[in-house]
Amino acid sequence: MEKIYLDNAATTEVAKEVIEEIKNKIGIYGNPSSRHSIGKEAKIEIEKAREKIAKFIGAKPEEIVFTSGATESNNFALKGTLMNSNKKHIVISSIEHPAVIEICEDLKKHGYKISYVNVNKEGIVDPRDVAKAITKETALVSIMHVNNEIGTIQPIEEIAKICKKNKVLFHTDAVQSFGKIKIDVNMGIDLMSVSGHKINALKGVGFLYIRKGVKISPLIKGGGQEGDLRSGTENVLGIISLAKAIDLKRKSEEVGKSRDRIEKELIKIPGAKLNGSREKRIYSNITISFYGIEGESLQMLLDEAGICISTGSACSSHKLAGSHVLKAIDVGEMYLNGNIRISLDSLNVLSKKQEDYIIKEIKENVERLTKISPFKFGGSNGI
Ligand code: PLP
Repeated sequence: MEKIYLDNAATTEVAKEVIEEIKNKIGIYGNPSSRHSIGKEAKIEIEKAREKIAKFIGAKPEEIVFTSGATESNNFALKGTLMNSNKKHIVISSIEHPAVIEICEDLKKHGYKISYVNVNKEGIVDPRDVAKAITKETALVSIMHVNNEIGTIQPIEEIAKICKKNKVLFHTDAVQSFGKIKIDVNMGIDLMSVSGHKINALKGVGFLYIRKGVKISPLIKGGGQEGDLRSGTENVLGIISLAKAIDLKRKSEEVGKSRDRIEKELIKIPGAKLNGSREKRIYSNITISFYGIEGESLQMLLDEAGICISTGSACSSHKLAGSHVLKAIDVGEMYLNGNIRISLDSLNVLSKKQEDYIIKEIKENVERLTKISPFKFGGSNGI
């Protein structure tokens, strides 16, 4: 059976151009810290990648620190800057990824105060709420660019301006936007986390952008790699893959059209409710809840039909508490567990036949689950 992979917000397939690049460079085995020619060969590759990535986001090469991925980058950004500040207050949104929320929960145990800025029903942060949450004790504001569950795009430029005015550091988790939406760090971003595997590169590689002048301490100490900010022998092939992935021609417009077509049909299903803003949402996302059914059951049935979707974020799908993001936008009790997330990939545009098959399978399986559910939808979808 042909598989249709619709879980690209969890991870993406490694692009064929990236595989080709890795094949060509697999022989580069030197330790980039070695002073001989074999080591230098690896070092040159890393520095070429750093330069290219820096240019892509309007940064200087020395402002890019390679990490093992965005979980590490977020830990580094938050803990590394707080270690250098005597202020003990952090502002985040209520829909951050666990790789920010859990760090903050941990920091709470060490005397830090956390303010959670709520989002509106559309899943968007109001910059005025960020301004209100900032106090004289605030060291850092961390607001993600695009939400991983509902795809909403946050007004980070306005938030960055507010942070600058208040002399507070601004960090953004740009995992779900990097490579998809143009980002220029000169909009006022002090720190930015990125992960390779969300943009068709390898897993286990990412970076933290750190604006020159930001005081930050390393979390991982050792041999002094990455300007003594992140020790450990660099993931050379991973870094090469990340630099290659940013070159790839992404068909965002075509993906947007495909998303719109699938979405238009799915919202007609009785009891369907689209989550997240219709306008301020990444072109590749559909997060939709169905009244009174179990998202997990739908996921399993679709998997049997060869369609891979998610019920939320892959990182929290092992937690049964219900999505904190869906709760934040107040989807309602009857919709909370009946949620699925479809995330498309701009390097792998769906055919019309695939779109039709996805729509048909979701419609039929929602109908099947609704029939056996004790909760019957009796309202209107509002469409
Ligand atoms: N932040 C966001 C918004 C994510 O979607 C993810 C991955 O799901 C992460 C952070 C963690 O990234 P990584 O898998 O590179 O640690």
